[in-house]
Amino acid sequence: MAEDRELRGAQQGTQAVWAGEGKSHWQRSTQVPVVQSVSFGYRDLDEWYEVALGEREGHIYGRNTNPTVQVLEEKIRLLEGAQAATSFATGMAAISSTLFALLSPGDRVVSIKDTYGGTSKIFLEFLPRFGIKVELCDTGDFDAIEREVAKGCKILYLETPTNPTLKVLDLPRLIGAAHRAGAIAVVDNTFATPINQNPIALAADLVVHSATKFLGGHADALGGLLCGRGDLVDAVFHFREISGATLHPEAAYLILRGMKTLSLRVRHQNESALRIARFLAAHPAIDQVYYPGLESHPHHDAAARQMRGFGGVMSFSLKGGFEAVRSFLPKLRYAHLAANLGSVETIAGPPRTTSHVELTEEGRRALGIPESLVRYSVGIEDTDDLIADLDAALRAARLATS
Ligand SMILES: *Cc1c(COP(=O)(O)O)cnc(C)c1O
Repeated sequence: MAEDRELRGAQQGTQAVWAGEGKSHWQRSTQVPVVQSVSFGYRDLDEWYEVALGEREGHIYGRNTNPTVQVLEEKIRLLEGAQAATSFATGMAAISSTLFALLSPGDRVVSIKDTYGGTSKIFLEFLPRFGIKVELCDTGDFDAIEREVAKGCKILYLETPTNPTLKVLDLPRLIGAAHRAGAIAVVDNTFATPINQNPIALAADLVVHSATKFLGGHADALGGLLCGRGDLVDAVFHFREISGATLHPEAAYLILRGMKTLSLRVRHQNESALRIARFLAAHPAIDQVYYPGLESHPHHDAAARQMRGFGGVMSFSLKGGFEAVRSFLPKLRYAHLAANLGSVETIAGPPRTTSHVELTEEGRRALGIPESLVRYSVGIEDTDDLIADLDAALRAARLATS
């Protein structure tokens, strides 16, 4: 494809704008039209048949493919340097479809304890009902992960950095172990985004994204993406076109528009988050800061090797336990208190009431999630304003709870 060749030498900011956008559209519109059409009509029955067989480019029915959605798939494919890409109604649809399409009864999957809450539910609640064995290892114990993989598995499922304590997995090492065992290596790249990390360049077979987060970037559309090896993406696409968790063209358009500024946003969020993490680490009201960009982070070296930036999400624990969190959060001026991340606005919330609400206090402690933890997703506001906002809220919370 000519467009692909032209973009090969381009840097990521240029790719984010132009990838997938090279074709001319309806009435020469420069912007990708939102094609609100369920079906696509053919008067030539032979042509229709060839499109249906996949022998000729075109669309038949909106559950299978759509022109707007296809541009989004092309954009993520190029940004992740993948052979193929497909899309889903949500990030969880991408993840569950990948697992259900590629696993069969008797197969074994190895993963970590710190995967996204929904993913963890698939592993613990749904896959075992279909006779699929699941082994979840301690996230920081790479030796244990390698041992479990070496015992044989169909899929090694990884996510890095993790939610909410920002652990980082050594991708080259673990993907290498997966391939030695003949397993497929899948990586959830939602937190890093292709701007900060390209797992396929580190040999991953498949990459999944919740496009709801940084890719869309404006907290106004749900979506999921999968890219990687062509044969595997095809198998998952085939499952999705039948199971039906299709991305809506309107949502695809919003995500596409958001992705044009992905590189700008993420690079600003990287810089902002690092400054904020350093500010918080030195703050007397803070117990601990969890951010892979800090030299004190236990996986800082692995992060520095495989990531170009450390991302816009961090978490921190307050001195004074959950009472301090309860007092502190509502005092933030520039943050939505909500269960989301990766938006242009800063978003904060306690894992205790959002991502890990289903767990007991002991369950959260076992995962190393203190009750006084706050997850903080840095938006694109000016860094000085966010630091002043955090400082004022921390001081006021201290006065209120001391
Ligand atoms: C939000 C999220 C998901 C799920 O995505 P949805 O679009 O909400 O279904 C999966 N993985 C990670 C890391 C996430 O943050």
